[in-house]
Amino acid sequence: MPKILTVGEILVELIATTKGDGFHEPQPLIGPYPSGAPAIFVNQVGRLGGDAAIIGRVGDDNFGHLNIARLARDGIDVSGIEVAQGEVTGCAFVRYREDGSRSFVFTMAQSATAALSITGAGASLMESCDHIHIMGTALSASGMAEVAMEAVVRIKARGGSLSFDPNIRPEILDTPGLRARLDGVLDQTDIFLPSGNELFMLTGARDEASAIRVLLERGIREIVLKRGAEGASHFDADGRTDIAPLTVEEIDPTGAGDCFGGAFVTLRLAGATPFEALRLANAAGARAVTRTGPMEGSSTRAELDRFLADHETDY
Ligand code: ATP
Ligand code: MG
Repeated sequence: MPKILTVGEILVELIATTKGDGFHEPQPLIGPYPSGAPAIFVNQVGRLGGDAAIIGRVGDDNFGHLNIARLARDGIDVSGIEVAQGEVTGCAFVRYREDGSRSFVFTMAQSATAALSITGAGASLMESCDHIHIMGTALSASGMAEVAMEAVVRIKARGGSLSFDPNIRPEILDTPGLRARLDGVLDQTDIFLPSGNELFMLTGARDEASAIRVLLERGIREIVLKRGAEGASHFDADGRTDIAPLTVEEIDPTGAGDCFGGAFVTLRLAGATPFEALRLANAAGARAVTRTGPMEGSSTRAELDRFLADHETDY
């Protein structure tokens, strides 16, 4: 089975248990939960039995070791996670507003992950892995971006493949250099996994069909469009396949896209058809939103099969 590599932030998340508009007064929090989009993605790969590794950097503190222990438990190669003495692991403090949107306090830019650079362990993973999964957040900060771009160049040069989840908020698009990096990765992408607004942000197209056409003409083999509670769609040279959403009660939406991506990429690389990969990824995303904590909702194959058996009857 191809070995999947990702690069980027490994964080903990603390979640306010009351809803409201931000952190203006003391309030109860739950956590720390292991987090960071690339970490959640790779955890989902590992839980499905995929062969996977992550290049990242954490502080020598409980938050860093919590993440390493979780990823190692789920079978991830953690040799590329550098533990930085005297530095701290990044935190995301999340509070939900009444309308379901989120307010964040992030310490990522001041944390160990900001100083990510290529280490011997990282370089050797770039030589031994066959597939690289890039997340836009890893392209937004210079250290992580340099490592991510190097991994892309090395793995693609050896004939490997690339999946790309832009995972990007419009507010950070003006970050110096980010546009060029997003374009550079897109030019090398085999499997592209955007959500709706990202599809338009990155192509400049006004409607979905034009955006998809632009991407296929650019040489991207497969596009998987994530539609949140509306399900998902797959596009390739043969056409379009849609999958209806499974009906679930949404408890915590963070991480759904990462679990969806982890499941889709694992299954496609293992030889599943696009439809089968889409069906299981749709279930992985839906199951993820039913659990509190970004990484707590990643699923094993047995959990996905049971979840599908319970929910597909709703169609
Ligand atoms: P994020 O970056 O916040 O994790 P995303 O935009 O990358 O999210 P979503 O579209 O929110 O990803 O979720 C990924 C997939 O998970 C969806 O395409 C769908 O298959 C499934 N999913 C997400 N939310 C729900 C939901 N409320 N009900 C059913 N399925 C869902
Ligand atoms: Mg996302």
